[in-house]
Amino acid sequence: MIALSVVIPVYNEKENLPELIERVLATCRDAKREFEVIFVDDGSRDGSREILREASVVNSEIRVVVLNRNYGQHAAIFAGLEASQGDAVVTLDADLQNPPEEIPRLVDEIERGVDVVGTVRQNRQDTFFRRVASSLINNVARRATGVSMHDYGCMLRGYSRTVVNAMTRCEEHSTFIPVLANSFAGSVCEIPVKHSARISGDSKYSLFKLISLQFDLLTSISTFPLRMLSLLGGVISMLGFGFGILLAVLRLVYGSAWAANGIFTLFAVLFIFIGAQFVGLGLLGEYIGRIYHDVRGRPRFFVKEIYGDKP
Ligand code: UDP
Ligand code: MG
Repeated sequence: MIALSVVIPVYNEKENLPELIERVLATCRDAKREFEVIFVDDGSRDGSREILREASVVNSEIRVVVLNRNYGQHAAIFAGLEASQGDAVVTLDADLQNPPEEIPRLVDEIERGVDVVGTVRQNRQDTFFRRVASSLINNVARRATGVSMHDYGCMLRGYSRTVVNAMTRCEEHSTFIPVLANSFAGSVCEIPVKHSARISGDSKYSLFKLISLQFDLLTSISTFPLRMLSLLGGVISMLGFGFGILLAVLRLVYGSAWAANGIFTLFAVLFIFIGAQFVGLGLLGEYIGRIYHDVRGRPRFFVKEIYGDKP
């Protein structure tokens, strides 16, 4: 049994791969454990696949899972998790924003018996917009899952074999791996890690992809958003009720002429309700969209080929 699997999703990262491969291999070899490095090529079109194939030929520890098209970071990590065999599995990004040198520290925690090791990025090197969005999301996730983790966005993470096995048995399509993992974790811990700016290549997340990822996170957290919806609905209707009483009282005090002039206030009330309905419909739509997606029961991805497999 292999002690450690490192899973790395790759999407058009050819500038970063040579250094990444070298640093990951050096770190893992130093750690003196039996290990494998699984790269998942998420439909790259810039030659990353060829670099990975070559690396898998030269280094027996490297395996490459090639997906037939781009499925997104989390689906790619899933493909890697399914292919992994290690007792401890560490995931990280291919863009060298997560230093591979931190891997042994995560593995130590797993070997100590922790199920999920999260990380907190020290002096995070991302844009202001990304940091604000992420702190918002982290707050929501923390409240909703009840698991106290500070940084759900950092994909440098460690998982025990048990948690990986549980996760790969989940069939749903829209998943956010850190939240899914926490729902199966017996024990979690967090360690601070370094973070670097992206040196080569661009972020693979457009604004649209980021928003869709946040919806994945939101809906993967049980039905918490739906509960929030009913809460919001309750508050708004109570406000509306209070406002109605106020209007009635004022009409009695000032007479019917005032009430006619107050007709725009009623419009305001109407708009509040219409707004609330739209929020509700939008959220319901999110869930229904996911139900539709899962009911079709398509596989999460198709693995086209696997390089470096022993016969
Ligand atoms: N990635 C992927 N498929 C995608 C988008 C990203 O496999 O569709 C990989 C990418 O190659 C990198 C990691 O996911 O290894 C994180 O991507 P990125 O650095 O662009 O995200 P950011 O750091 O901006 O959050
Ligand atoms: Mg990055």
